[in-house]
Amino acid sequence: MPRVYTVPAEAMLEDAPALRDRDELFRELSREAESVRVREGEYLWREGDPVDCVLLLHEGSLEVVQGISGGDTVVVRTLDPGSVAGELAALDGLARSAAVRAATPCRVGRVPADRFREFVRQRPHLLEGFLYLQSQRVRSLTRQVTQTHQRAITDQLTKLYNYGFFVERLDLELDRAAQMGDAVSIALFDIDHFKQYNDTHGHPAGNVVLVTFADILKRTGRRGDIVARFGGEEFVFLLYGASRREARQVAEQARVRVEETDFPGGGTQPEGRITVSGGVATYPYDARTAVQLVEAADEQLYKAKADGRNRVMPEEPGGPDSLHG
Ligand code: GH3
Ligand code: MG
Ligand code: MG
Repeated sequence: MPRVYTVPAEAMLEDAPALRDRDELFRELSREAESVRVREGEYLWREGDPVDCVLLLHEGSLEVVQGISGGDTVVVRTLDPGSVAGELAALDGLARSAAVRAATPCRVGRVPADRFREFVRQRPHLLEGFLYLQSQRVRSLTRQVTQTHQRAITDQLTKLYNYGFFVERLDLELDRAAQMGDAVSIALFDIDHFKQYNDTHGHPAGNVVLVTFADILKRTGRRGDIVARFGGEEFVFLLYGASRREARQVAEQARVRVEETDFPGGGTQPEGRITVSGGVATYPYDARTAVQLVEAADEQLYKAKADGRNRVMPEEPGGPDSLHG
């Protein structure tokens, strides 16, 4: 059963101003219109339909609907009495970009598209209004795309980048590093005995720890470094150009800052405070692909846990990479 979504109010185009001179247009066009009654749920046109008319909404409420993947539909905006629908499509002559359907029983006026174009041709001052309307819609859409993209790559609790963004970016950075002959390091962190903290102080208090830790990481990275929430209580640094030694230094700095932070309720933790463990891995020395690099960092993180936690591994970076450190 396909689902129906309504985009959140702040993302609707409703804040886009209506056509200037809309009332005048509505009044004058009404004389040209054939009045029609529409039942609730009935479609006035579908996405992709050729443009045959412009609608004037006299009574009721219309929904502008777009289909998305999986057969689901999204209500992108709703129209109130006094609204004109389909006027821009009637002018550009392109197929319908969205469907329009009656959300309630409606009374609408139908003006044939060629009659509408003739009407506008006789009133060139209206064109400025349509241009204004079009540009406002584009601005509103641009803002929405930016906000939607931001939400899509952001972890809502910590405001760090999310896992999806990290993985995508790591692939890009490894490609760049391969071309440039640069190193790329990642440092993976996991909070020590975090389950115990949650069990003792509750999930909301645990969330406060996550947010504070995220802020510490943000303050610790170098300019241009990427910090992401890797998963529940795991976080990751993506350090372009950093040797293993440099990455270790950044990770160690973060670990120390956590250790020195007085988290509320930290006293009940096994070490008497909140601590984190970290694992570092560096391209191309430890791995050549993104998946392998994450595995290598995870392996070091596991060692840090096994060695007693509250540490960053490898402890003493060596090998060819130390030449770069
Ligand atoms: P270790 O030192 O070995 O890492 O022990 P741990 O208890 O931290 O490890 P484990 O993986 O067993 O527990 C992770 C805990 O993180 C369990 C889960 O409840 C908690 N957690 C994961 N995501 C969130 C979150 O978004 N908020 C809160 N408050 N807790 C979370
Ligand atoms: Mg964990
Ligand atoms: Mg943990």
